[in-house]
Amino acid sequence: MSQTNSDHTYNTPAEIDEIHARLTRTFYSGVTRPLAYRRKQLLQLARMLQDNHVAFEDALLADIGKPRLESSLSEVVHCLTNALTAADSLETWAAPKPCPTTAAWRADWGATLHKEPKGVALIISPWNYPLVLTLNPLIGAIAAGCPTVLKPSELVPVFSQLLATLLPRYLDPTAYAVVKGSVPETTHVLGLRWAHILYTGSSRVGRVVAAAAAAHLTPVTLELGGKSPAVIADDADLTLAARRILHGKIQNAGQLCVSPDYAVVSRGRVGAFVEALKSAHAEFWPEGDHPLTGNAPLSNIINASHHARLVDMLKRTKGKIAFGGETHGQKGITPTVLTDVPEDDVLMEEEIFGPILPIIAVDAVDHAIRVINSKPTPLVIYLFTDKEEIKQKFLQRTQSGQLVQNDVVMQLAVNEMPFGGQGESGCKYTASFDTFTHLRGYINISSAQEPFLQGRYRPYTDDKYQFACAPGKVKIPDA
Ligand code: NAD
Repeated sequence: MSQTNSDHTYNTPAEIDEIHARLTRTFYSGVTRPLAYRRKQLLQLARMLQDNHVAFEDALLADIGKPRLESSLSEVVHCLTNALTAADSLETWAAPKPCPTTAAWRADWGATLHKEPKGVALIISPWNYPLVLTLNPLIGAIAAGCPTVLKPSELVPVFSQLLATLLPRYLDPTAYAVVKGSVPETTHVLGLRWAHILYTGSSRVGRVVAAAAAAHLTPVTLELGGKSPAVIADDADLTLAARRILHGKIQNAGQLCVSPDYAVVSRGRVGAFVEALKSAHAEFWPEGDHPLTGNAPLSNIINASHHARLVDMLKRTKGKIAFGGETHGQKGITPTVLTDVPEDDVLMEEEIFGPILPIIAVDAVDHAIRVINSKPTPLVIYLFTDKEEIKQKFLQRTQSGQLVQNDVVMQLAVNEMPFGGQGESGCKYTASFDTFTHLRGYINISSAQEPFLQGRYRPYTDDKYQFACAPGKVKIPDA
């Protein structure tokens, strides 16, 4: 029997154990392996999204106040098209890959990499993009042939309940299941053995997940966050940069892992950049409209404690508010830009995760690089410039999950590009199908090979020894 926690029903440990056992049985039955089965599940997932498009928008609106256009564009339709692409790509992705060998004597061993499902997978997702961050990895897991448990965030209860209701109506319930719950339920889930865990969320919980995975030597993908800078080089078009950066910063009210966290601008251009941001703001919210109370309000700040965290940062910062800084109730903050922000300011300590943009003034590009390198590796660096030498400098002297030139957030539109951070911003790439696939090596050494293998058998003779050493006597090039 399920427990009721406040007004939401969470799964009990016994139910979670039953789900785990059921999916494990399904995996070993082999039912999820045939490509026809995987294709059907992917098409059903697309159908679930199409039939219930508005219900999913309603859920995201209820949970986080997400505007319908943002829910459609970056969550429902994005996943729907990804599911269809995966269904059409399955045969190519899953085809065994010949593994050519350099040595002629191994050429007839038939070395091949077979794309095998790892087993029963676990996907733990956060609240900020709850649909895409739950279902996009699921698409990869289905395509790979892995039964999967989804553990959406307790901070989006309407969405989680909707998913838990719809998923078994469209997908095979013996292979795919939703576990509803918060920390105690997730802790129980993490105590079980999984073939792969994909976690998206904060680095604090990422450490908990990695430690739990280590107990079973389970491979884990961590999609974390961090402070992603937007650097505006001196040649950049400020009007374009400001419009693009402000647009990126207000997506989901700045609660996006790839939000531009802070801007870095040459000292002499800060004033002009602020003016450009004000103009962009006036374009987005013309006279009479308002970011929080107007036609299409910004998403809510997820809860009162995150709102209080942001308000507290605005109180403690040494920077000056150039515009914005209005707070409404316990869920709204207007887009806020700050100047004169010291490099060690409270706004520069942790990922902001809200619609607040501090501007750090620097002397030159090298100074910008020093600021970035003084912090943990970001998920992405946004670089506004058309100069090849500046791009090269960033490629060679900084690290990040991705480097995006002249725009923000658009890397998410390149589905074909693996996505992932480094260090504090995460580990392993979510290249979807590959994440849940084990490359199983295969060779066949037939009896016809036996004449070529005599040198390995005892008795060990000097001839055999000389033969074994010969490849090590090759001439090594000077450079
Ligand atoms: P969250 O609070 O919703 O937590 C994420 C998941 O972890 C939830 O399912 C939750 O139930 C579970 N969880 C929370 N505490 C736990 C604990 N102690 N033990 C076990 N499980 C626990 O989301 P969040 O972590 O606040 O998400 C925001 C963070 O996620 C930001 O840092 C953001 O940058 C990052 N993020 C990263 C990506 C990416 O793709 N790299 C995408 C979105 C968000």
